Amino acid sequence: MSNPTTPREESLGSYEMLWDCPHCDTKKNLGVTHRHCPNCGAPQDASKRYFPSDADKVAVANHQFTGADRVCSSCGTAQSAKAKNCGKCGAPLDGMKAVPFVKEKEAPKAKGRPWGWYILAFVLLLSVAIWWRCIRKKSIELDVKGHRWATVIDIEEYREVGESKWKNEVPSGARAVSCSQKERSTRSVPDGETCKMVKRDKGDGTFEEVNQCTPKTRQEPVYDDYCDYRIDRWTKVDALKKEGTGTDVVWAEAPPAPTLTGPGARRAGERRATYTLDFSDGKKTRTCDVSEGTWRKYKDGQHVKAKARASSGELVCSSL
Ligand SMILES: [Zn+2]
Ligand SMILES: [Zn+2]
Repeated sequence: MSNPTTPREESLGSYEMLWDCPHCDTKKNLGVTHRHCPNCGAPQDASKRYFPSDADKVAVANHQFTGADRVCSSCGTAQSAKAKNCGKCGAPLDGMKAVPFVKEKEAPKAKGRPWGWYILAFVLLLSVAIWWRCIRKKSIELDVKGHRWATVIDIEEYREVGESKWKNEVPSGARAVSCSQKERSTRSVPDGETCKMVKRDKGDGTFEEVNQCTPKTRQEPVYDDYCDYRIDRWTKVDALKKEGTGTDVVWAEAPPAPTLTGPGARRAGERRATYTLDFSDGKKTRTCDVSEGTWRKYKDGQHVKAKARASSGELVCSSL
């Protein structure tokens, strides 16, 4: 939904970078004002600049940014981007590299407990427990004791029923339609911005504080008409059942197809059959509902090898 956008940026002001003199150890010299050490006169080492703490911040008023400083390749001193020649040794500065930019240090992330390991260990333990209780199997031997079957034919009647749908989905032929407002979906709406302040080294002894803001959204409900109505449908009203033992499956006699579709008309609906095998392991009877093919494959009295749950002894019907 929200595609990554470049954040809106807002300058909060420009400030001087700081540097410490490596010769006389004078600290917190200013990046623009002190191109040389105010104590001993040593030139500023541009690669040693750093961001000041909030208490040490010095604003630069009306500072015009002309580009990052360039390093003289002859004597190594940093020179303003405006300079054509090195102020110390006079070498031309055309094509010289800019000073390295200082990166703001990210706040160190709080080191939490290694929850990942606990969760992993827990999942592993749970998997072993599930395997032990529910998946682990053993072989058992059984005798087929008998075949059972059950058949069902649903009986449907064409009659009035109640339904509910969104207004645009209400079918034609609906009667007594009554609608009311209900939440159907949500949409994102703009909800201000999330901002974060970053310090950006300009490379000329100054840095800029920038507020980076990205738009935020929140979800808002969208309402629509939801309707109750009455309509004629084929509806299950009865079921014709038969059941028995052995392998001769019998179905009830279904009513003839109706000649006219109108209220009160009846027809045969879905037909379903259940095929059940009974086994004995010498002590108790075990039962499986299986496909017709599996059911017909076994003969009464046949000796069968199958799988059972190792923990409960329950017969695994899919192993037949
Ligand atoms: Zn110094
Ligand atoms: Zn130079």
